[in-house]
Amino acid sequence: MNMSRTRDTRERLVVIGGDAAGMSAASQARRMRGPDELEIVAFERGHFTSYSACGIPYWVGGDVAGPDELIARTPEEHRERGIDLRMRTEVTEIDVGGQRVRARELDSGAESWTSYDKLVIATGARPIRPDMPGADAPGVHGVQTLDDGRALIETLARTRGRKAVVVGAGYIGVEMAEALINRGYEVTVVNRGSEPMSTLDPDMGRLVHEAMEGLGITMVNDTEVAKVLTGEDGRVRAVVTQDAEYPADVVVLGIGVRPETTLAKAAGLPLGDHGGLLTDLAMRVRGHENIWAGGDCVEVLDLVSGQERHIALGTHANKHGQVIGTGVGGGYATFPGVVGTAVSKVCDLEIARTGLREKDARRVGLQFVSVTIESTSRAGYYPGASPMTVKMLAERRTGRLLGVQIVGREGAGKRVDIAVVALTAGMTVERMTALDLGYAPPFSPVWDPVLVAARKAVAKVRGS
Ligand SMILES: Cc1cc2nc3c(=O)[nH]c(=O)nc-3n(C[C@H](O)[C@H](O)[C@H](O)COP(=O)(O)OP(=O)(O)OC[C@H]3O[C@@H](n4cnc5c(N)ncnc54)[C@H](O)[C@@H]3O)c2cc1C
Repeated sequence: MNMSRTRDTRERLVVIGGDAAGMSAASQARRMRGPDELEIVAFERGHFTSYSACGIPYWVGGDVAGPDELIARTPEEHRERGIDLRMRTEVTEIDVGGQRVRARELDSGAESWTSYDKLVIATGARPIRPDMPGADAPGVHGVQTLDDGRALIETLARTRGRKAVVVGAGYIGVEMAEALINRGYEVTVVNRGSEPMSTLDPDMGRLVHEAMEGLGITMVNDTEVAKVLTGEDGRVRAVVTQDAEYPADVVVLGIGVRPETTLAKAAGLPLGDHGGLLTDLAMRVRGHENIWAGGDCVEVLDLVSGQERHIALGTHANKHGQVIGTGVGGGYATFPGVVGTAVSKVCDLEIARTGLREKDARRVGLQFVSVTIESTSRAGYYPGASPMTVKMLAERRTGRLLGVQIVGREGAGKRVDIAVVALTAGMTVERMTALDLGYAPPFSPVWDPVLVAARKAVAKVRGS
């Protein structure tokens, strides 16, 4: 084993994980402190840095030409900015007491220790893989990394059959169903929940279900996948559930992720109920002055429920990185928490949510009223107006906004941002009804659908 290199007088920051959270942190720390003050060493076990996994469904579906378009910054670009980036090198141990990490170069197998003054853990999340026969068969793909995306595209190019099964109907499963439809596949989505998009209440998930079937996607809910069958060539040929068999030339898994905290756990760092690292508001690991963590490997504070949650989203990871880099660089920044916002689409159907679902509100003991309204994306008489459904939850008696879910076509998804601002500001639904939103017939009805929902919620709160 090599020994660590001789230390110079500069402080050394070590970053584990070279994607959104890790490289945002490293880049921001570099902006704050030059190479003569701060040495930055970053370890990434994969082939890519600063890439957008969020773009994989659109790359697979053909909307984005290639992986290069999904890479914000290459390893060379990071190195030009004074970051000593060690690719294909996996950190295998964190020695908290000794302030050092052990890393293995994956191609040569060489191992060495690197000491740190400051450490950033940005190891992301690992996809859940079903423990069942055939789960690793050729033709079964995850879509967590660019390497996964490339492998899937290669399989699609080789496959002569045209039947695809997507396991899981969260936003990744739904986006992958669209990608496969766009490539001319017959798509079946197999889902454990009662409706797709379990981040919505089931009544709103039902709308997604109906729209997916309208697109020619077969939705199978309330079922578990039992095994994957392979043909004589060893490749996938069918997916078997509790009660049926679905022929498949390719299978895509999208059944969620867990925080990748194996190293952190072994090092004795504090983990929450969801397995993510626990940090303070400055993203410092609790109880550790010189260790920060961010992105998919941490738990975040839900500002609406007041509870810690694990939410794996790139939008949070980038913000965490910015806060961490500022702190590492000697500045001051905090990440106050999230309100639980997400937006996605399947073909032209846009799906958005923020805040609490009914079951979230009940779980934390909040009493609420709930309303659902139908409206349109533009003035009803204006060409292109399309239907939109908005569901809104408000606290009983106080009328505080608790959550909004929107399903519709053009213009539905990003409307949720109105509710995000209202939630963050702690507005009541009554206060929301007076929001001075922009109006012209091509953009919305004179009462925006979100305001129509707020007005109906006000009436129900008064009745409650
Ligand atoms: C298909 C798909 C679609 C998505 N769409 C969206 C979207 O629309 N909107 C959104 O907000 N988010 C989306 N996301 C989620 C988003 O991509 C992640 O939240 C984001 O990438 C998290 O960034 P991160 O830096 O925390 O973790 P990651 O991106 O997982 O990066 C962690 C890095 O650490 C490396 N690593 C881990 N352990 C070690 C180790 N021991 N040594 C060295 N390196 C290590 C990994 O190789 C990895 O590159 C999507 C994700 C997927 C998979």
